[in-house]
Amino acid sequence: MGRSPAFSKVRSVTRIPAGGRSRVDLRKRDTDDSILFRDKDQALVSLDADAQRIDVLQDALFAAQAGSLLVVLQGIDTSGKDGVTKAVFRYTSPLGVRVHPFGRPSEMELAHDYLWRIHQAVPRRGHIAVFNRSHYEDVLVVRVRNLAPRDRVDERYEQINEFERHLVANGTRVLKLMLHVSHEEQGRRLKERLERPEKRWKFNPDDLADRQLWDEYQEAYEIMLRSCSTKHAPWHVIPADSKTRRDAIAARLVLAELEDMSPTYPDPGYRPDQFQID
Ligand code: ADP
Repeated sequence: MGRSPAFSKVRSVTRIPAGGRSRVDLRKRDTDDSILFRDKDQALVSLDADAQRIDVLQDALFAAQAGSLLVVLQGIDTSGKDGVTKAVFRYTSPLGVRVHPFGRPSEMELAHDYLWRIHQAVPRRGHIAVFNRSHYEDVLVVRVRNLAPRDRVDERYEQINEFERHLVANGTRVLKLMLHVSHEEQGRRLKERLERPEKRWKFNPDDLADRQLWDEYQEAYEIMLRSCSTKHAPWHVIPADSKTRRDAIAARLVLAELEDMSPTYPDPGYRPDQFQID
């Protein structure tokens, strides 16, 4: 079966360099992994082993209450944000994992600054939070659909970097994953949503309007990746045309973060032999 690719390799293949010096060109980035996993079977085995280990470390993180992990998932419609969440956390107890989908802001949310709703959902100590869409929508859909003046959007990249720096400085690790699918693959997945009765609920005619704006979205993603990949919270681009490989790569990156945190069970403050239970 073969072993999983090393964390350092997965990180170096997917990570966008910090500093924003060079332009990010998504057309030059694979939407199909040909480097990390030799074949689908290897990806399946790696994913399953990593998901089990993620559960073990999450349990220790929950007990230690020492830090927290925020996983930010972004990607165009059908890129697999739900799929990654289900696969990576398939063994993880719901006690310590919270999933937060961010849709169109409510009236109350719009009456506040755009980070207000986000900050309320960041993980408490000992928890993992998964953001299905995030504050990055405020430089993606908002930019592409001109929902705010362009100069206000341009100011947000630095504001977001500062916000994430604040989270990291206060004990939350921030792992940002962009799921990168091709135009053709998105077309296939949208068709499948119409054809398969159990997938029809996922189809939204608005997705077709967004598909018409493909180039504009790709450009907005490129600007986001270049502007907001920082040392404290780098962006990772995951090839997402193959679901199994996509999930396996995401699991490696989540596990790498948890291994770095190396949570340990706290000292209970007593010796077990102090007590006798009849
Ligand atoms: P999904 O498409 O992720 O399955 P929804 O159907 O609820 O979930 O879609 C969420 C929608 O909310 C997307 O079209 C997204 O662009 C939009 N959205 C998210 N955040 C914002 C925001 N800050 N401003 C405007 N629209 C947003």
